[in-house]
Amino acid sequence: MDFSWQKEQLEYKKQIAHFAQQNLNGDIIERDMKGIFSKELWQKCAAFGIQGLAAPKTYGGQNENIDILSAMLAMEGFGYGCHDNGLAFALNAQMWTVQLPIVHFGTAGQKEKFLPKLVSGEWIGAHALTEPDIGSDVFNMKMTAEKTEGGYILNGQKRLVTLAPIADVALVFANAKPKMGKWGVTAFLVEKGMPGFSASPVRDKMGMRTVPFGELDFDNCFVPTENRLGKEGAGMSLSNNSLEYERCSILASQLGAMERQLETAVEYAKNREQFGQPIGKFQSVSNRIADMRLRIETARLLLYKVAWLKKTGQSAMMEAALLKLHLSESFIASSLDAIRTHGGNGYLTGFGVERDLRDAVGGVLYAGTSDIQRNIIARLLGL
Ligand SMILES: Cc1cc2nc3c(=O)[nH]c(=O)nc-3n(C[C@H](O)[C@H](O)[C@H](O)COP(=O)(O)OP(=O)(O)OC[C@H]3O[C@@H](n4cnc5c(N)ncnc54)[C@H](O)[C@@H]3O)c2cc1C
Repeated sequence: MDFSWQKEQLEYKKQIAHFAQQNLNGDIIERDMKGIFSKELWQKCAAFGIQGLAAPKTYGGQNENIDILSAMLAMEGFGYGCHDNGLAFALNAQMWTVQLPIVHFGTAGQKEKFLPKLVSGEWIGAHALTEPDIGSDVFNMKMTAEKTEGGYILNGQKRLVTLAPIADVALVFANAKPKMGKWGVTAFLVEKGMPGFSASPVRDKMGMRTVPFGELDFDNCFVPTENRLGKEGAGMSLSNNSLEYERCSILASQLGAMERQLETAVEYAKNREQFGQPIGKFQSVSNRIADMRLRIETARLLLYKVAWLKKTGQSAMMEAALLKLHLSESFIASSLDAIRTHGGNGYLTGFGVERDLRDAVGGVLYAGTSDIQRNIIARLLGL
Protein backbone atom coordinates (compact mmCIF):
# COMPACT_ATOMS: atom_id res chain seq x y z
CA MET A 1 0.00 0.00 0.00
CA ASP A 2 1.24 3.43 -0.85
CA PHE A 3 -0.49 6.36 0.83
CA SER A 4 2.06 8.94 -0.14
CA TRP A 5 -0.31 11.58 -1.43
CA GLN A 6 0.60 13.83 -4.31
CA LYS A 7 0.96 17.53 -3.60
CA GLU A 8 -2.12 18.29 -5.75
CA GLN A 9 -4.32 15.83 -3.83
CA LEU A 10 -3.36 17.37 -0.47
CA GLU A 11 -3.78 20.89 -1.86
CA TYR A 12 -7.28 20.04 -3.13
CA LYS A 13 -8.20 18.60 0.28
CA LYS A 14 -7.19 21.93 1.84
CA GLN A 15 -9.12 23.92 -0.76
CA ILE A 16 -12.28 21.90 -0.24
CA ALA A 17 -12.04 22.31 3.56
CA HIS A 18 -11.57 26.05 3.09
CA PHE A 19 -14.53 26.24 0.69
CA ALA A 20 -16.73 24.45 3.25
CA GLN A 21 -15.57 26.64 6.15
CA GLN A 22 -16.22 29.81 4.18
CA ASN A 23 -19.55 28.87 2.63
CA LEU A 24 -21.43 26.12 4.44
CA ASN A 25 -21.37 26.74 8.18
CA GLY A 26 -23.04 30.14 8.58
CA ASP A 27 -26.50 29.31 9.94
CA ILE A 28 -25.96 25.63 10.73
CA ILE A 29 -27.40 25.75 14.27
CA GLU A 30 -30.63 27.33 13.05
CA ARG A 31 -30.92 25.03 10.02
CA ASP A 32 -30.36 22.02 12.26
CA MET A 33 -32.91 23.15 14.83
CA LYS A 34 -35.56 23.96 12.21
CA GLY A 35 -34.71 21.07 9.89
CA ILE A 36 -33.97 23.26 6.88
CA PHE A 37 -32.36 21.89 3.73
CA SER A 38 -30.60 24.51 1.63
CA LYS A 39 -30.70 23.95 -2.12
CA GLU A 40 -28.55 27.06 -2.42
CA LEU A 41 -25.74 25.37 -0.49
CA TRP A 42 -26.24 22.18 -2.50
CA GLN A 43 -25.74 24.17 -5.68
CA LYS A 44 -22.72 25.97 -4.25
CA CYS A 45 -21.18 22.56 -3.64
CA ALA A 46 -21.95 21.60 -7.23
CA ALA A 47 -20.40 24.81 -8.54
CA PHE A 48 -17.26 24.03 -6.54
CA GLY A 49 -17.20 20.59 -8.14
CA ILE A 50 -18.10 18.30 -5.21
CA GLN A 51 -20.76 16.24 -7.00
CA GLY A 52 -18.38 16.16 -9.97
CA LEU A 53 -15.98 13.98 -7.98
CA ALA A 54 -18.31 11.07 -8.75
CA ALA A 55 -18.68 11.41 -12.52
CA PRO A 56 -16.38 11.35 -15.53
CA LYS A 57 -15.51 14.62 -17.27
CA THR A 58 -17.73 13.83 -20.28
CA TYR A 59 -20.77 14.18 -18.02
CA GLY A 60 -19.64 17.24 -16.08
CA GLY A 61 -17.28 15.49 -13.67
CA GLN A 62 -13.92 16.77 -12.47
CA ASN A 63 -11.59 14.17 -14.01
CA GLU A 64 -11.49 11.91 -17.05
CA ASN A 65 -12.38 9.00 -14.77
CA ILE A 66 -13.49 8.77 -11.14
CA ASP A 67 -10.48 8.50 -8.84
CA ILE A 68 -11.79 7.02 -5.59
CA LEU A 69 -8.62 7.70 -3.60
CA SER A 70 -8.56 11.39 -4.52
CA ALA A 71 -12.33 11.70 -4.06
CA MET A 72 -12.16 10.07 -0.65
CA LEU A 73 -9.35 12.39 0.48
CA ALA A 74 -11.35 15.36 -0.82
CA MET A 75 -14.46 14.25 1.10
CA GLU A 76 -12.35 13.91 4.24
CA GLY A 77 -11.43 17.58 3.77
CA PHE A 78 -15.09 18.37 3.17
CA GLY A 79 -16.14 16.71 6.44
CA TYR A 80 -13.43 18.62 8.29
CA GLY A 81 -14.52 21.99 6.94
CA CYS A 82 -18.29 21.46 6.81
CA HIS A 83 -20.01 21.45 10.21
CA ASP A 84 -23.22 20.28 8.55
CA ASN A 85 -22.84 16.49 8.73
CA GLY A 86 -26.27 16.13 7.11
CA LEU A 87 -25.16 17.95 3.99
CA ALA A 88 -21.97 15.88 3.78
CA PHE A 89 -24.01 12.69 4.20
CA ALA A 90 -26.60 13.64 1.58
CA LEU A 91 -23.98 14.67 -0.98
CA ASN A 92 -22.16 11.39 -0.52
CA ALA A 93 -25.43 9.44 -0.74
CA GLN A 94 -26.25 10.98 -4.11
CA MET A 95 -22.70 10.76 -5.43
CA TRP A 96 -21.97 7.14 -4.60
CA THR A 97 -25.39 5.48 -4.55
CA VAL A 98 -27.06 7.28 -7.46
CA GLN A 99 -24.41 8.81 -9.73
CA LEU A 100 -21.88 5.96 -9.44
CA PRO A 101 -24.36 3.16 -10.35
CA ILE A 102 -25.39 5.24 -13.39
CA VAL A 103 -21.70 5.65 -14.33
CA HIS A 104 -21.02 1.92 -13.92
CA PHE A 105 -24.25 0.41 -15.24
CA GLY A 106 -26.10 3.11 -17.21
CA THR A 107 -26.62 3.20 -20.95
CA ALA A 108 -25.13 6.13 -22.88
CA GLY A 109 -28.62 7.66 -22.99
CA GLN A 110 -29.09 7.34 -19.21
CA LYS A 111 -25.67 8.86 -18.52
CA GLU A 112 -26.41 11.79 -20.82
CA LYS A 113 -29.84 12.35 -19.35
CA PHE A 114 -29.14 12.10 -15.62
CA LEU A 115 -25.46 12.72 -14.83
CA PRO A 116 -25.02 16.34 -16.00
CA LYS A 117 -28.14 17.41 -14.09
CA LEU A 118 -27.03 15.64 -10.89
CA VAL A 119 -23.45 16.88 -11.15
CA SER A 120 -24.51 20.50 -11.78
CA GLY A 121 -26.79 20.51 -8.73
CA GLU A 122 -29.89 21.14 -10.86
CA TRP A 123 -31.31 17.75 -9.88
CA ILE A 124 -31.19 15.81 -6.64
CA GLY A 125 -31.03 12.02 -6.55
CA ALA A 126 -32.13 9.50 -3.91
CA HIS A 127 -31.37 5.81 -3.44
CA ALA A 128 -34.32 3.72 -2.29
CA LEU A 129 -33.91 0.21 -0.90
CA THR A 130 -35.48 0.11 2.58
CA GLU A 131 -39.15 -0.82 2.94
CA PRO A 132 -41.60 -0.77 5.85
CA ASP A 133 -41.11 -4.51 6.51
CA ILE A 134 -37.65 -4.95 5.04
CA GLY A 135 -34.49 -3.32 6.38
CA SER A 136 -31.36 -5.39 7.01
CA ASP A 137 -32.75 -8.29 4.97
CA VAL A 138 -32.96 -5.86 2.11
CA PHE A 139 -32.94 -8.14 -0.94
CA ASN A 140 -35.98 -9.92 0.40
CA MET A 141 -37.92 -6.83 -0.65
CA LYS A 142 -41.65 -6.83 -1.24
CA MET A 143 -41.81 -4.12 -3.88
CA THR A 144 -42.60 -5.53 -7.30
CA ALA A 145 -41.93 -4.53 -10.89
CA GLU A 146 -44.32 -6.31 -13.22
CA LYS A 147 -43.21 -6.44 -16.82
CA THR A 148 -45.65 -4.89 -19.27
CA GLU A 149 -45.48 -3.55 -22.81
CA GLY A 150 -42.72 -0.97 -23.04
CA GLY A 151 -41.79 -1.09 -19.39
CA TYR A 152 -42.68 -2.14 -15.86
CA ILE A 153 -45.46 -1.42 -13.37
CA LEU A 154 -44.00 -0.69 -9.94
CA ASN A 155 -45.98 -1.27 -6.76
CA GLY A 156 -44.78 -0.89 -3.19
CA GLN A 157 -43.29 1.50 -0.71
CA LYS A 158 -39.83 2.66 0.34
CA ARG A 159 -39.02 4.38 3.62
CA LEU A 160 -36.21 6.12 5.49
CA VAL A 161 -34.92 7.37 2.14
CA THR A 162 -32.43 10.25 2.34
CA LEU A 163 -33.51 13.22 0.18
CA ALA A 164 -36.74 11.40 -0.86
CA PRO A 165 -39.12 14.37 -0.52
CA ILE A 166 -37.07 16.62 -2.80
CA ALA A 167 -35.55 14.09 -5.18
CA ASP A 168 -35.91 14.65 -8.91
CA VAL A 169 -34.87 11.09 -9.60
CA ALA A 170 -34.81 8.03 -7.36
CA LEU A 171 -32.80 4.87 -7.95
CA VAL A 172 -35.39 2.36 -6.81
CA PHE A 173 -35.02 -1.39 -6.33
CA ALA A 174 -37.97 -3.71 -6.96
CA ASN A 175 -38.35 -7.39 -7.65
CA ALA A 176 -39.16 -8.12 -11.30
CA LYS A 177 -39.13 -11.91 -10.77
CA PRO A 178 -40.26 -12.63 -7.20
CA LYS A 179 -39.96 -16.40 -7.79
CA MET A 180 -36.21 -15.92 -8.25
CA GLY A 181 -35.83 -14.21 -4.89
CA LYS A 182 -32.89 -11.81 -4.68
CA TRP A 183 -31.88 -12.66 -8.26
CA GLY A 184 -35.06 -10.93 -9.41
CA VAL A 185 -34.17 -7.59 -7.82
CA THR A 186 -33.93 -4.93 -10.50
CA ALA A 187 -33.02 -1.24 -10.43
CA PHE A 188 -35.04 1.60 -11.95
CA LEU A 189 -34.51 5.33 -12.35
CA VAL A 190 -37.88 6.75 -11.38
CA GLU A 191 -38.43 10.41 -12.18
CA LYS A 192 -40.46 12.93 -10.27
CA GLY A 193 -43.83 13.41 -11.96
CA MET A 194 -44.15 9.86 -13.28
CA PRO A 195 -47.81 8.89 -12.71
CA GLY A 196 -48.27 6.70 -9.62
CA PHE A 197 -45.04 7.91 -7.99
CA SER A 198 -45.25 10.14 -4.92
CA ALA A 199 -43.03 11.18 -2.03
CA SER A 200 -43.79 12.29 1.51
CA PRO A 201 -41.47 13.63 4.21
CA VAL A 202 -40.70 12.27 7.66
CA ARG A 203 -40.70 15.38 9.81
CA ASP A 204 -38.81 14.76 13.03
CA LYS A 205 -35.62 12.82 13.48
CA MET A 206 -32.71 12.58 15.88
CA GLY A 207 -29.90 13.88 13.66
CA MET A 208 -29.03 14.84 10.07
CA ARG A 209 -31.84 17.34 10.42
CA THR A 210 -30.63 19.55 7.59
CA VAL A 211 -31.48 16.78 5.13
CA PRO A 212 -35.03 15.70 4.41
CA PHE A 213 -35.85 12.00 4.67
CA GLY A 214 -39.05 10.39 3.59
CA GLU A 215 -41.16 7.72 2.02
CA LEU A 216 -41.69 6.91 -1.62
CA ASP A 217 -44.96 5.38 -2.79
CA PHE A 218 -45.49 3.46 -6.00
CA ASP A 219 -49.08 2.85 -6.99
CA ASN A 220 -49.18 1.18 -10.40
CA CYS A 221 -46.33 3.45 -11.42
CA PHE A 222 -45.33 2.85 -15.06
CA VAL A 223 -41.58 3.07 -15.68
CA PRO A 224 -40.38 2.70 -19.28
CA THR A 225 -37.77 0.04 -20.05
CA GLU A 226 -35.29 2.79 -20.94
CA ASN A 227 -35.33 3.76 -17.24
CA ARG A 228 -34.27 0.31 -16.06
CA LEU A 229 -30.70 0.53 -14.79
CA GLY A 230 -28.67 -2.53 -15.68
CA LYS A 231 -30.13 -5.87 -16.59
CA GLU A 232 -33.23 -7.42 -15.12
CA GLY A 233 -32.11 -9.21 -11.95
CA ALA A 234 -28.87 -7.23 -11.65
CA GLY A 235 -30.12 -5.07 -8.78
CA MET A 236 -28.24 -6.86 -6.02
CA SER A 237 -24.82 -6.76 -7.68
CA LEU A 238 -25.44 -3.18 -8.72
CA SER A 239 -26.25 -2.20 -5.15
CA ASN A 240 -23.30 -4.10 -3.67
CA ASN A 241 -20.98 -2.50 -6.21
CA SER A 242 -21.73 1.02 -5.02
CA LEU A 243 -21.78 0.11 -1.33
CA GLU A 244 -18.01 -0.17 -0.89
CA TYR A 245 -17.49 3.21 -2.58
CA GLU A 246 -20.30 4.72 -0.50
CA ARG A 247 -18.73 3.45 2.71
CA CYS A 248 -15.36 4.96 1.78
CA SER A 249 -16.60 8.41 1.07
CA ILE A 250 -19.43 8.83 3.57
CA LEU A 251 -17.06 7.65 6.25
CA ALA A 252 -14.27 9.86 4.89
CA SER A 253 -16.43 12.89 5.65
CA GLN A 254 -17.05 11.55 9.15
CA LEU A 255 -13.33 11.08 9.65
CA GLY A 256 -12.86 14.74 8.71
CA ALA A 257 -15.53 15.66 11.25
CA MET A 258 -13.67 13.64 13.93
CA GLU A 259 -10.47 15.58 13.15
CA ARG A 260 -12.37 18.85 13.61
CA GLN A 261 -13.86 17.52 16.87
CA LEU A 262 -10.41 16.64 18.17
CA GLU A 263 -9.03 20.12 17.45
CA THR A 264 -11.98 21.74 19.21
CA ALA A 265 -11.61 19.44 22.23
CA VAL A 266 -7.84 20.09 22.52
CA GLU A 267 -8.41 23.85 22.30
CA TYR A 268 -11.12 23.74 24.97
CA ALA A 269 -9.04 21.52 27.27
CA LYS A 270 -6.13 23.98 27.01
CA ASN A 271 -8.22 27.05 27.77
CA ARG A 272 -10.84 25.93 30.27
CA GLU A 273 -9.46 26.09 33.80
CA GLN A 274 -10.72 24.33 36.91
CA PHE A 275 -8.95 23.94 40.26
CA GLY A 276 -6.43 26.52 39.05
CA GLN A 277 -5.22 24.67 35.97
CA PRO A 278 -6.31 23.85 32.40
CA ILE A 279 -8.63 20.83 32.43
CA GLY A 280 -6.35 19.16 29.86
CA LYS A 281 -3.82 18.69 32.67
CA PHE A 282 -6.23 16.28 34.39
CA GLN A 283 -5.41 12.81 33.17
CA SER A 284 -9.03 11.73 32.94
CA VAL A 285 -9.65 14.53 30.45
CA SER A 286 -6.44 14.06 28.45
CA ASN A 287 -6.92 10.27 28.32
CA ARG A 288 -10.27 10.79 26.63
CA ILE A 289 -8.67 13.11 24.10
CA ALA A 290 -5.86 10.59 23.50
CA ASP A 291 -8.57 7.98 22.76
CA MET A 292 -10.16 10.37 20.25
CA ARG A 293 -6.79 10.63 18.48
CA LEU A 294 -6.32 6.86 18.49
CA ARG A 295 -9.76 6.33 16.90
CA ILE A 296 -8.91 8.79 14.13
CA GLU A 297 -5.60 7.07 13.39
CA THR A 298 -7.02 3.54 13.29
CA ALA A 299 -10.10 4.58 11.31
CA ARG A 300 -7.92 6.49 8.84
CA LEU A 301 -5.73 3.46 8.13
CA LEU A 302 -8.79 1.29 7.49
CA LEU A 303 -10.35 3.96 5.29
CA TYR A 304 -7.27 4.51 3.14
CA LYS A 305 -6.83 0.77 2.77
CA VAL A 306 -10.36 0.30 1.42
CA ALA A 307 -9.97 3.23 -0.99
CA TRP A 308 -6.62 1.85 -2.17
CA LEU A 309 -8.10 -1.63 -2.70
CA LYS A 310 -10.95 -0.15 -4.75
CA LYS A 311 -8.58 2.06 -6.73
CA THR A 312 -6.43 -0.94 -7.60
CA GLY A 313 -9.48 -2.96 -8.62
CA GLN A 314 -9.45 -5.38 -5.70
CA SER A 315 -12.29 -6.67 -3.58
CA ALA A 316 -12.66 -4.95 -0.22
CA MET A 317 -15.58 -6.78 1.35
CA MET A 318 -13.86 -7.63 4.64
CA GLU A 319 -12.00 -4.33 4.86
CA ALA A 320 -15.12 -2.28 4.03
CA ALA A 321 -17.09 -4.05 6.77
CA LEU A 322 -14.26 -3.51 9.30
CA LEU A 323 -14.08 0.13 8.26
CA LYS A 324 -17.83 0.76 8.44
CA LEU A 325 -18.06 -0.88 11.85
CA HIS A 326 -15.02 0.81 13.36
CA LEU A 327 -15.42 4.30 11.95
CA SER A 328 -19.14 4.70 12.60
CA GLU A 329 -18.82 3.40 16.17
CA SER A 330 -15.73 5.59 16.68
CA PHE A 331 -17.60 8.70 15.57
CA ILE A 332 -20.22 8.07 18.25
CA ALA A 333 -17.61 7.38 20.95
CA SER A 334 -15.57 10.47 20.01
CA SER A 335 -18.68 12.67 19.81
CA LEU A 336 -19.53 11.64 23.35
CA ASP A 337 -15.95 12.24 24.49
CA ALA A 338 -16.07 15.70 22.90
CA ILE A 339 -19.22 16.49 24.89
CA ARG A 340 -17.65 15.20 28.14
CA THR A 341 -14.57 17.37 27.50
CA HIS A 342 -16.78 20.45 27.16
CA GLY A 343 -18.70 19.59 30.34
CA GLY A 344 -22.14 21.24 30.56
CA ASN A 345 -21.27 23.51 27.63
CA GLY A 346 -21.02 20.44 25.43
CA TYR A 347 -24.66 19.74 26.15
CA LEU A 348 -25.74 23.17 24.90
CA THR A 349 -26.85 23.39 21.27
CA GLY A 350 -25.24 26.82 20.86
CA PHE A 351 -21.77 25.34 21.42
CA GLY A 352 -22.17 23.19 18.31
CA VAL A 353 -20.68 20.09 19.98
CA GLU A 354 -23.77 17.98 20.75
CA ARG A 355 -24.99 18.00 17.13
CA ASP A 356 -22.17 15.65 16.07
CA LEU A 357 -23.41 12.98 18.48
CA ARG A 358 -26.96 13.14 17.14
CA ASP A 359 -25.65 13.00 13.57
CA ALA A 360 -23.21 10.19 14.35
CA VAL A 361 -25.88 7.74 15.53
CA GLY A 362 -27.27 7.32 12.00
CA GLY A 363 -23.88 5.96 10.94
CA VAL A 364 -24.31 2.70 12.84
CA LEU A 365 -27.68 2.15 11.16
CA TYR A 366 -27.57 3.05 7.46
CA ALA A 367 -25.68 1.09 4.80
CA GLY A 368 -25.84 -2.00 7.03
CA THR A 369 -26.05 -1.76 10.83
CA SER A 370 -23.04 -2.58 13.02
CA ASP A 371 -24.61 -6.00 13.68
CA ILE A 372 -24.72 -6.66 9.95
CA GLN A 373 -21.06 -5.59 9.55
CA ARG A 374 -20.08 -8.05 12.31
CA ASN A 375 -22.07 -10.75 10.51
CA ILE A 376 -20.16 -10.06 7.28
CA ILE A 377 -16.80 -10.19 9.08
CA ALA A 378 -17.73 -13.44 10.86
CA ARG A 379 -18.99 -15.01 7.62
CA LEU A 380 -15.76 -14.10 5.81
CA LEU A 381 -13.85 -15.73 8.69
CA GLY A 382 -15.75 -18.91 7.93
CA LEU A 383 -18.03 -18.74 10.99
C1 LIG B 1 -29.63 8.28 8.77
C2 LIG B 1 -30.23 7.18 7.93
C3 LIG B 1 -30.25 7.32 6.54
C4 LIG B 1 -30.81 6.33 5.75
N1 LIG B 1 -30.87 6.51 4.38
C5 LIG B 1 -31.42 5.53 3.60
C6 LIG B 1 -31.52 5.71 2.18
O1 LIG B 1 -31.12 6.73 1.63
N2 LIG B 1 -32.10 4.72 1.45
C7 LIG B 1 -32.55 3.57 2.02
O2 LIG B 1 -33.03 2.71 1.31
N3 LIG B 1 -32.48 3.38 3.37
C8 LIG B 1 -31.94 4.33 4.17
N4 LIG B 1 -31.89 4.18 5.53
C9 LIG B 1 -32.43 2.97 6.12
C10 LIG B 1 -31.34 2.01 6.61
O3 LIG B 1 -30.63 1.48 5.54
C11 LIG B 1 -32.02 0.96 7.50
O4 LIG B 1 -32.46 1.63 8.67
C12 LIG B 1 -31.05 -0.17 7.86
O5 LIG B 1 -30.75 -0.97 6.75
C13 LIG B 1 -31.64 -1.08 8.97
O6 LIG B 1 -32.92 -1.53 8.63
P1 LIG B 1 -34.12 -1.37 9.67
O7 LIG B 1 -34.14 0.05 10.12
O8 LIG B 1 -35.35 -1.86 9.01
O9 LIG B 1 -33.73 -2.24 10.89
P2 LIG B 1 -33.93 -3.84 11.05
O10 LIG B 1 -33.35 -4.55 9.89
O11 LIG B 1 -35.34 -4.11 11.41
O12 LIG B 1 -33.00 -4.13 12.31
C14 LIG B 1 -33.40 -3.89 13.66
C15 LIG B 1 -32.32 -4.41 14.59
O13 LIG B 1 -32.10 -5.81 14.36
C16 LIG B 1 -30.75 -6.07 14.02
N5 LIG B 1 -30.67 -7.13 13.03
C17 LIG B 1 -31.42 -7.32 11.91
N6 LIG B 1 -31.01 -8.40 11.25
C18 LIG B 1 -29.98 -8.91 11.92
C19 LIG B 1 -29.09 -10.02 11.74
N7 LIG B 1 -29.19 -10.84 10.68
N8 LIG B 1 -28.12 -10.23 12.66
C20 LIG B 1 -27.97 -9.41 13.72
N9 LIG B 1 -28.76 -8.37 13.96
C21 LIG B 1 -29.75 -8.11 13.08
C22 LIG B 1 -30.25 -4.74 13.44
O14 LIG B 1 -28.82 -4.64 13.51
C23 LIG B 1 -30.96 -3.74 14.33
O15 LIG B 1 -30.27 -3.62 15.54
C24 LIG B 1 -31.35 5.17 6.35
C25 LIG B 1 -31.34 5.04 7.74
C26 LIG B 1 -30.81 6.04 8.53
C27 LIG B 1 -30.82 5.90 10.03
